[in-house]
Order: sequence, then structure tokens, then C-alpha cells
Amino acid sequence: MINPEWENLVKNIHNHYHQDFVPLHEPTFGESELNYVTACIKTGWVSSVGSYVDGFEKALAEMVGVKRAVAVVNGTAALQIALKVAGVKENDEVIMPSLTFIATANAVTYLQAIPHFVDVTERTLGLDPLKLDMYLSSVGSMQNDVLINKETGRVIRAVVPMHTFGHPVELDELIAVCEKYHLILVEDAAESLGSYYKGKHTASFGKVNAMSFNGNKIVTTGGGGAILTDDEALANYAKHLTTTAKVPHKWAYVHDEIGYNYRMPNLNAALGCGQLEKVEKFVEAKRELTVFYDDILSKINGVTLFKEPIHTKSNYWLQTILLDDSMNRDEVLTYLNEQGVMSRPIWQPMHTLSMYENCPKGDLTVVESLNKRIINIPSTPLITSK
Ligand SMILES: *Cc1c(COP(=O)(O)O)cnc(C)c1O
Repeated sequence: MINPEWENLVKNIHNHYHQDFVPLHEPTFGESELNYVTACIKTGWVSSVGSYVDGFEKALAEMVGVKRAVAVVNGTAALQIALKVAGVKENDEVIMPSLTFIATANAVTYLQAIPHFVDVTERTLGLDPLKLDMYLSSVGSMQNDVLINKETGRVIRAVVPMHTFGHPVELDELIAVCEKYHLILVEDAAESLGSYYKGKHTASFGKVNAMSFNGNKIVTTGGGGAILTDDEALANYAKHLTTTAKVPHKWAYVHDEIGYNYRMPNLNAALGCGQLEKVEKFVEAKRELTVFYDDILSKINGVTLFKEPIHTKSNYWLQTILLDDSMNRDEVLTYLNEQGVMSRPIWQPMHTLSMYENCPKGDLTVVESLNKRIINIPSTPLITSK
């Protein structure tokens, strides 16, 4: 399998990054991050109160084009609360791709709801709206305006598409399916800051949506996440729930329900304020990296570089190789990693994990196929001025 073309790829990656070991994705910081974090420390307000959280939320909401953003400790917590305020209840089923990071399924489970896995399309690496429509028409039955799963008797309440590696899913078609079956749309936009569908930013389509700012994402707050929505009342409720549901008062400690201590610390928000200023540069550099890889990979048999779907502008968070059926994924992974080029397969599909193998699911042919054929290669954006 490994021929001079693969050796050429490895050589070019080392030259591009000037590193003996090239990681998959590293964060990039500059002057503003240092300045904001230092200023934050000097004020002493590093924890649960401070102006950087407000600043981060405002800048993020503006960038995404939604009315409100609520900053929280991580993307998983953001998803959990987004689903909760959007209306997911105990014992509800929530549709999601089996090809996702574990957090999507876990967030649903934390609400005592049940993940329900469906297939993806090779066009986007995300949910397949056509297949979903056909599946729901066979497995579901509309009763009093809610969709009942005929096999389990439970309500199918929501759909959580995930924009894999930053590539937006077919949102118009998915929204039509959600309307047809009265399902709530919640985007898992953890990977897609800076990605647009038909000119509109991801995380602005669902009723409530979630993002992550973990260390490996396109922008990081160290650890962090955000809930995004156009609905002021739901945003206020999300803020309330994620800040221990404390009733605002100068000195009294009164809480009106069981909330969560999910707020993003001010210190992390300060880092995030610096990072948000660089989103456009990061996206530009990642898109240039795609051109760089495409040039090399187009000369190698048996592989293609995954490109943004039609009608979208992707942030290309993680560069993705698709192997032909003739190629052995683990052989390629072993070779690249041995050569100091960090590469990894996609997450093990949710329906094959022991905790989730008994969850309801549809046909997952494409997930099974893609699982054996996807490899992510180094994707750190090299920006000139920091
Ligand atoms: C990163 C990620 C999350 C969760 O984010 P954390 O901040 O790590 O909790 C959720 N969903 C997807 C698809 C992700 O990639």
C-alpha cells in the first residue's frame, strides 16, 4: 500500500509544520489572549462573576447571528441544557446520527431520555434527511401532534444533527422533516463555529443549539461551551438553570429549582474573547490547508479528500480522508502515526458501544461503511500574524 506518493504526503506535512511529530490539532494563541487573561487575573474576578463572560456571549451571538448565547463549562453541558430547555423530557427518544462524538448521546442520557440512532449520508457525513423521512414514516405514528415510535411506544421528540468536522448538514431538508413530524431541531454545532449553510451560520437553525470550545476545537476557552438561540425566554431559562437556578438578589441565597453549576468561569471567557477575534483567520488557514492536501492527495490512488457539501462554507475543522473499499484503514493509520503524522479514525459508532447498543436504531449501512474509511489528518491552522 505505502508507495512513494504516501511518502511524499508525509514529507510535505513535516515541511509544512516544521515539526518531527505533527499533532492532529493544536490551539493557537496570540497577544490578545495574553492581554485579556492577564487583565482578568489583575481584576481578581477569575471565577463565576466578571465582564468577560458577558463580552464573550455578546461577541459569539453576533458572530453566529442569534439573539443570545449562554456560555457554559463545556459543550456536553451546553447540549444537555439546550435539549432540556428546548423541551426534551424523561423517556423521550431523540434522533441523532450514530456517527458522532459520545457527548451527543451522553447529553440525551443525562436527561433520562433515549438516543435513537439513524444513518448519515456520504454527501455531508451528517444526518441523511431523505432516509430519515422514510424511516420515520415506517417506524412512527402521529398521535395528538406527537410522533410515537410504534416499536417502543415512546415519544420521538427531537432531532439532533451534528455538523461533522465542521461540514454543515442538509438543513433545509432536515427542517422540512422536523416540521412534517413535529420534531424539535437542536443542532450539535460543537465542531462548526465559522461554518455556514446557504450563507447562514450553523447553530442558528435549531430552536436551541450547542457549541463547544474544548482545547481541540477551532476556538478554545480551555474548556467551554455555549447554548445559542433566538428565543429570549429560553436563553434566560438556560442562563438560570446553568447558574444554580439562583433567584437574583443582593444577598439572599434562594434557588427556585434544581439547577446546575455549569457556568463558564470568567478566566476561560477572557481566553475565548481573544480567540473569537481570530475565527476568520483560522477558517481561512484551514481552507488553504484543504487546497494544500488536495494537491497531494489527488495524486494518490484509493483516497479522496472530503470537501464541503454543496450550498455550504465549511470551517474544515478537521481535514478528512475518505479511503476506497480497497484500502485498509488501520494500515494507513499505522503508517502515518509511525511517521510522526498524527492521524486517527472517526469515533466508534454509538450503536456499537456497550452502553448504547440496545438503543433504538434504523438502518446504518452508510455509518458502517464510513467508519471503516475515514481518517483525520493534521489540521492545525497556521496563521501568519497572531
Ligand atoms: C466536542 C464535541 C462535543 C462536546 O464538547 P465538550 O466541550 O468536549 O464537552 C459534543 N459534540 C461533538 C460532536 C463534539 O465534537
